[in-house]
Amino acid sequence: METVWMNLRDVDEAKGGVVLHETLALPRVAEENRMVERIDPVTADLIAHKADRLYHVDGAVETVIWYMCSRCLETFSAPLHLPFAEVFTRDAARVEDEIIYAPDDDVLLDPFIEQTINLAIEYRPLCREDCKGLCPVCGKNRNLEPCDCNPRPVDPRWAALQDLLSPDESE
Ligand SMILES: [Zn+2]
Ligand SMILES: [Zn+2]
Repeated sequence: METVWMNLRDVDEAKGGVVLHETLALPRVAEENRMVERIDPVTADLIAHKADRLYHVDGAVETVIWYMCSRCLETFSAPLHLPFAEVFTRDAARVEDEIIYAPDDDVLLDPFIEQTINLAIEYRPLCREDCKGLCPVCGKNRNLEPCDCNPRPVDPRWAALQDLLSPDESE
């Protein structure tokens, strides 16, 4: 599996920018996000160009995220297509919030691609907007089959506990 390197000397010399098209594996996205079971290879379609002595990398990254639904715990896939834009400089004096210091000729873009994806990860993923979740009484997946349990026990203490366990149902 490739990684995405940008060579700043190539970008210096290229008239119309340097096209970076690679597929990379970012397994850490699944390791570090509790609700992500796995992540497909990530396709990066980027172009690097120099303007005013800054190196701009623009384009898009694309993959499929395999989530665990936060209500029914089933696995489902969600395609991800994100814009990518970062700016780099060789000049330490020009580094600021949005401008990243890149002192070497070769810049590894993988960490920035990973960060872009991490910012788009859902923390309460749902297999579908109206996912019925698991029955709190018998544990059946209510999307697959209805059960005979009383979904709203009348005891208000239990109702309060149920709200704590699944606060999204009150949204
Ligand atoms: Zn679900
Ligand atoms: Zn039930």
